[in-house]
Formats: sequence, C-alpha cells, structure tokens
Amino acid sequence: MCLFCKIANKEISSNIELENEDFIAFHDINPIAPIHLLVIPKVHVENFQKASPKLMAKATSFIQELTIKMGLDSDGYRLLTNNGENGGQEVMHLHFHIVGGTRLKWVHLSDNNPKAAI
Ligand code: 5GP
Ligand code: ZN
Repeated sequence: MCLFCKIANKEISSNIELENEDFIAFHDINPIAPIHLLVIPKVHVENFQKASPKLMAKATSFIQELTIKMGLDSDGYRLLTNNGENGGQEVMHLHFHIVGGTRLKWVHLSDNNPKAAI
C-alpha cells in the first residue's frame, strides 16, 4: 500500500483539515507557504493522467469547500498537481497541492530555455 493510501486509511497519522467519503485534505509535512494542504482521493489513483472526469468533478467541489473553510477563497491560492517524472511527482498517488496564506511568486520552473522547441 502506498504512503498516501496509508494516510487515507489513518495507518499513518496526518494533520487532517477536511474529509468526506471520497477525499481527505491534510497539511503537507514540508510546507512551502503559510498554508500548504494536500488533497487526495481515498481510492488509489496514480496521478491526474489516470483520474476520471467523475472523480475530478467531486474533487472540484471538495477543494472549493476546503478553500472556503481555510479562508483562502477571497484572497486566492494556488492549486497544482505534479504529474509523472517530468512533473516532479514524488508520491505516486494523485494529490493536489493547495498553497496560500501569502502573496505567491511565479517561479522559474526549468533551467532549459522556455522558448526552445520541444
Ligand atoms: P509531490 O512532489 O509528489 O507533488 O508532493 C509530495 C508532497 O507530499 C510533498 O510536498 C511532501 O512534503 C509531502 N509529503 C511526503 N510525505 C508526507 C507525509 O508522510 N505526510 C505529509 N503530511 N506530507 C508528506
Ligand atoms: Zn495510494
């Protein structure tokens, strides 16, 4: 069983902020901003590329509820998912990062020339 399946099953403890029958939101162990939450489905899905539209529709509602609960909805936040090797995904269980609580920078993501043809 993968790390985030264990967190979803409460075999590994986490600081849970919101939960419903399909998803769980908990604080990232290594936050990159004052608020850094992870949203995961309780079922094991490898990443966004493997997610169904039905699951994503439910994720949308859950994330919107979470951001309202956290008071992020009016000031804004960043929602991102790292997908696969080039995306920098480290835990192979679909998760969305919700980052906020401060004014975020738009960072330089690659050492390669962004204008170079792929
Ligand atoms: P990725 O790089 O796969 O998009 O993000 C994985 C995230 O999971 C990282 O931000 C990392 O800090 C977080 N993380 C890894 N292990 C744990 C853990 O055991 N507990 C919590 N709460 N977060 C974790
Ligand atoms: Zn899993």
